[in-house]
Amino acid sequence: MLSTISIPEMLQQQRQFFATGKTQDLNFRLEQLKRLKSAIQTYEADIFEALGTDFRKPSFESYLAEVRATTEEINYTLKHLKSWVKPRRAAVSIAQIPASAFIRPEPKGVVLIIGPWNYPFYLILAPLVGAIAAGNSAILKPSEMTPATSGLIARLVAQTFDPAYISVIEGGVETSQQLLAQKFDHIFFTGGTAVGKIIMEAAAKHLTPVTLELGGKSPCIVDNEIDLRETAKRITWGKFLNAGQTCVAPDYLLVNRQIKSPLLESLKQSIGEFYGENPEKSPDYARIVNDRHFQRLSQFLKEGEIAIGGETNATERYIAPTLTVNVPPASPLMQEEIFGPILPIMEYETLEEAISFIKNRPKPLSLYFFSKNASKQQQVLANTSSGGVCLNDTIMHLGVTELPFGGVGDSGMGAYHGKTSFDTFTHYKSVLKRPFWGETNLRYPPYKSKLGWVKRLLG
Ligand code: NAD
Repeated sequence: MLSTISIPEMLQQQRQFFATGKTQDLNFRLEQLKRLKSAIQTYEADIFEALGTDFRKPSFESYLAEVRATTEEINYTLKHLKSWVKPRRAAVSIAQIPASAFIRPEPKGVVLIIGPWNYPFYLILAPLVGAIAAGNSAILKPSEMTPATSGLIARLVAQTFDPAYISVIEGGVETSQQLLAQKFDHIFFTGGTAVGKIIMEAAAKHLTPVTLELGGKSPCIVDNEIDLRETAKRITWGKFLNAGQTCVAPDYLLVNRQIKSPLLESLKQSIGEFYGENPEKSPDYARIVNDRHFQRLSQFLKEGEIAIGGETNATERYIAPTLTVNVPPASPLMQEEIFGPILPIMEYETLEEAISFIKNRPKPLSLYFFSKNASKQQQVLANTSSGGVCLNDTIMHLGVTELPFGGVGDSGMGAYHGKTSFDTFTHYKSVLKRPFWGETNLRYPPYKSKLGWVKRLLG
């Protein structure tokens, strides 16, 4: 049954539940994670259906990027949680002896998780895995733009957990703002950079720590020393997966001038191989989430010259996989996050030029560099800053559970996945324990004649 109580009442219930200490128990946490995994497996067909209803996401993509990606997080956490929850010893200095020091992980309390619409299932439930693992209670606010998936998450959570422990509040901006008016112990937000600023401002009023998983323009540099076919396939996949509505999709290409024409041809070939002559008929190609985004992207199609694609169907909210050339760097297409199936292709003469283009823009969430040349790889790594980097592929770095995932600068702050998720929702409490014996009394006044002793002792 879905909850009808008010937001402050729900928060109050969660505070009371958290105060019982139940969520701190390791076995309780493991049990809840297993329940979540089993619920996801039970609901798998419904998840595919909801994502299909919302924006015709292909079941294959729903399985890998939403269902499987979440259960992978659960599996990894189930395997390691026992060691993560243990207090860790810290060394003590000679001045503290006799004493022992340790770091004790403790849950932050009641946390709020707000999600976007593009991977609407995974981006709510993967952070929840970290919140549960760390021993928190949680309120989840899925995106209103994907209502079928939001409703599905609400049902799945209501049938799996005690609402005083984990609950879902559905709604849009107004609901989100009502939630943000409350005091939480952590806010985990995934969404756009502009809204990220609103979240941080609201959190500041309560001094609530935030994790901001934001977006931006993730560049993809293509050097001339590459395997052309593999490069084209990997870029095509990363860009047109979910019809380009992926926070880490390559937003634009910076291509070495020597390789631009052959790469363009190879990208065209890959688009044809993946989605056929008419991608509108392909069952493997998603739709734009709503009319507003369809209109926004349609405006982008007027910029530069279309090298392939450009076809649209407003009734279907379909936009063909599109490659665009000769785009002025100052145009909106090259200033705003595209978040759709349009790939502008820019060219460069020297790698320094490409690096400087990136450095003069906000720090991206992901950066892609295709090159066989190890010293050029080092040059890019040493001279650019981004949330993450994937060399010779796109998006695949997100699949490595042991790599923290998060942005830097405009693309966000904080990170998650694997142990980093546990860390995000944990307060590491420092504890020093001293016995009553062994006191030197050196630190106590009167200090007369003690300075020499202290200096000798501390070295
Ligand atoms: P969004 O910021 O518009 O919305 C995200 C959430 O915030 C939604 O639940 C929405 O209801 C809420 N919200 C929107 N406006 C609000 C406001 N004024 N006050 C309070 N809450 C508000 O983002 P979106 O359109 O759903 O998602 C697309 C963006 O998210 C892109 O920029 C993309 O790059 C980014 N994104 C980032 C990641 C990541 O992991 N870093 C993943 C996916 C998407």
